[in-house]
Amino acid sequence: MGTGLIWFENNLRIKDNKALAEACKNHDRAIAIYCFDPRKFEITKYGFPKTGKFRAKFLIESIIQLQENLENLNISLLTFQKKPEEIIPEIAENHKIEAIYFQEEWTSEESKVIEAVKNKLPNTEFRSFYTQFLFHPDDIPYNDFSVIPKVYTEFRKKCEKQVEVRKEIEIPQQKPDSNLLKNTSEIPNLDQLGFEEFQQDSRTAFPFKGGEDEAWKRIQQYFWDTKKLSEYKQTRNGLLGKDYSSKLSAWLANGSISAVSIYHEIKKFEKEITKNEDTYWLIFELIWRDFFKYISLKHGNSIFKLGGILNKELDWNFDKTNLKNWINSETKEDFVNANMKEIAATGFMSNRGRQNVNSYWAKELKQDWRAGAAYFESVLIDYDVHSNWGNWMYNSGVGNDPRDRKFNIKSQADRYDPNNEYQNTWLQH
Ligand code: FAD
Repeated sequence: MGTGLIWFENNLRIKDNKALAEACKNHDRAIAIYCFDPRKFEITKYGFPKTGKFRAKFLIESIIQLQENLENLNISLLTFQKKPEEIIPEIAENHKIEAIYFQEEWTSEESKVIEAVKNKLPNTEFRSFYTQFLFHPDDIPYNDFSVIPKVYTEFRKKCEKQVEVRKEIEIPQQKPDSNLLKNTSEIPNLDQLGFEEFQQDSRTAFPFKGGEDEAWKRIQQYFWDTKKLSEYKQTRNGLLGKDYSSKLSAWLANGSISAVSIYHEIKKFEKEITKNEDTYWLIFELIWRDFFKYISLKHGNSIFKLGGILNKELDWNFDKTNLKNWINSETKEDFVNANMKEIAATGFMSNRGRQNVNSYWAKELKQDWRAGAAYFESVLIDYDVHSNWGNWMYNSGVGNDPRDRKFNIKSQADRYDPNNEYQNTWLQH
């Protein structure tokens, strides 16, 4: 039975966590590790950090809470500001680890790290799980990722008909007390990750705080206390305030809550409170999230290339001043500027805003869409590799949009911000 190691990445939760549950089931003793990989905080070629301060703070909060929740199970979470391939082999040797459990990843940077760790531990068993999906890859009605449809609706309809969302995996039983290691590792603070402390902007759409318990608090508010879920489809294109959408994205992105858990909570709400088009629509959006994961599974590194998954040659330009002006809210479009102010000040932007600033950057200014996507990667609190690059491709004309739409920014502003309330909030301060 020996000792199992749970290597946490974007699955920072104890509920519905197969890697954690399997390690607890298969071993007398389990310990856990999280690495603040310095590569994730490096400065990109565009001059901004790969992970910016909003996500860094959210991540620290998530890890603090995960460590506490694991301690209640008598599992120590060791944390390091090191590359996984440097520290995991050492931990594996010191603690005579028999097997390493983790969430499966497939995008290039993540899989390179996994390979590097595996190469250093040829005699250790590695067990990985696809735990970021709503529809598990083993359950979807496609034999191979290469036949995933290009169009979302086709994918959604077939999956909705044929796939049953799996049950949540229970939180494991507490391990005996004697298993708790004396944990001398330290969780870095913002300063150690290269950032200054900062206060949340009072205009933020949501007072985001990292951690699994915080995700469940948001479910409690949005579903059960205010019942806003029952209006979701009608409000989801909003721009201001806490409740126009679920605001679950940041916790979903780092795995503090699973899509499967949210699904079952929606079903419970539908049984106990109300079932309507709005409650269904949150599931519809979670399926979008899955879709982009399947697209990256199907297309690999094409999602990061200029021609995208269509391998399309368009007339792209790149001008540093344009990038600076777009980032600093100094474009000709007030609606774009307001949204860019919001993301710079809070790390969050509504879905409507994201579509518009993306379309303006890629289709109006015809600038290399990857620079815009890289800026979002840096600054977003809810950055998710698949959703970010997939949506950027989609709105830039090199992805899955069958209609290849370009947004008319002025009419979007008139429609979604008719009284300039949103633009005034961000531009008049
Ligand atoms: P809700 O409207 O409450 O939706 C519920 C959940 O469904 C979201 O939390 C999210 O997980 C999922 N979802 C909703 N819309 C989408 C979508 N279009 N694509 C994929 N999943 C979706 N979302 C991210 O989580 N991370 C990103 O890095 C990201 N980058 C984006 C970049 C661009 C250019 C665009 C247009 C969209 C991007 N999105 C991204 C999708 C979407 O804008 C956010 O998920 C959403 O605004 C988050 O707010 P919410 O949780 O309140 O969403």
